[in-house]
Amino acid sequence: MNEEFQDHQIRDVIKINYKYTMGGQSKFFKELMNNKRLLGTKCKKCGKTWMPPRINCSDCYEPADWVELKQTGTIEVSTIVWYTTSAFIKAIPYGVGFIKLDGAETSLFQGIFSENLVPSKIKKGKRVKAVFNKLREGKMTDFFFVPEDEYDNWISKPEYEGGV
Ligand SMILES: [Zn+2]
Repeated sequence: MNEEFQDHQIRDVIKINYKYTMGGQSKFFKELMNNKRLLGTKCKKCGKTWMPPRINCSDCYEPADWVELKQTGTIEVSTIVWYTTSAFIKAIPYGVGFIKLDGAETSLFQGIFSENLVPSKIKKGKRVKAVFNKLREGKMTDFFFVPEDEYDNWISKPEYEGGV
């Protein structure tokens, strides 16, 4: 660009309608949406149970079977979110963390909500349970985890419900 030329710029917004596929992971999202079930996969060869599910075992590359997992688990690591994208701005502050569901050998990154969100409520080793939105869309945001001792309070709210 030379000194005589100065381009004229206008800020605008582009809105795009699009769809994307969950591919081989579709069963996880359909079961989440329709039946409030959390499905992982179990390797046919080594028996490792994956959550999030892997269609093929990432350790030995063999196909894996779908298995239903419990909706309780343990926090492995967590943090509190104060800065986020526009999609989640109304929810801050909220917790996120890696949760190992009972029966799984890998951990799922997911939201952890608490009525009294302080680090000690969502720290490593705390037991959590899944709470589901009543209106589900087949997305990861259809559910989140809460401390086990808050579960009954969360599922009594009109917009949420317990799992199966
Ligand atoms: Zn395997």
